[in-house]
Amino acid sequence: MSTKAIVASRNEGKIAEIREILTIPGLELITYRDLEEWPDIREEGESFYENALLKARALVEKFGVAAISDDSGLEVDALGGAPGIKSSRFAGDRANDMANNVKLLGELADLEFSDRTARFRCSAVYMDKDRRVISAEGTLEGHVGFEPRGRGGFGYDPLFIPSGYDKTLAELGSQVKNRISHRARAFRLLKSELEKVLSER
Ligand code: IMP
Repeated sequence: MSTKAIVASRNEGKIAEIREILTIPGLELITYRDLEEWPDIREEGESFYENALLKARALVEKFGVAAISDDSGLEVDALGGAPGIKSSRFAGDRANDMANNVKLLGELADLEFSDRTARFRCSAVYMDKDRRVISAEGTLEGHVGFEPRGRGGFGYDPLFIPSGYDKTLAELGSQVKNRISHRARAFRLLKSELEKVLSER
């Protein structure tokens, strides 16, 4: 018998990434497109993990099946870990990616490259219909560059230069990004945990 799980995201790029990684026999992924309603989910947690948990729980409670969620963001060491869980609204509640990038560059204006260390962090959660939780975390270390470069990706990708590369994530493109990203790492770990649990049940 297959287990149904709702992917707690309306971001097509994210859904595609998760689908590609979480190919597990006996696990059927459902998305918002298969559902007529979608709960209003507020990200009011104090960590990526809490926010991922809030999203998964909202769906499990509404639909009575398992859910898969994630929450992620950028932590800049010189800013004490900001923007962190506020990454999508760093420059204000209605800020877009460009405004967030401009604010970040402004805050780091006086710093040389070696002081611009940062990481993307992702917390991935699977909650089954009885609210049992499996979770995993992934990070991607790197530096914040001095100006936006590249056209791929989203968010802070045009500014983020992963360690070991001399290009931004936006320049490196989705093939490289999907191999090394915080989200890919978190979901690969989640997959191996989930495979064990689903094969035991
Ligand atoms: P969420 O996990 O979709 O809520 O992402 C929160 C915010 O973190 C996004 O709006 C981006 O600003 C930032 N972020 C998360 N993952 C990435 C990424 O892979 N590249 C660039 N920015 C990201």
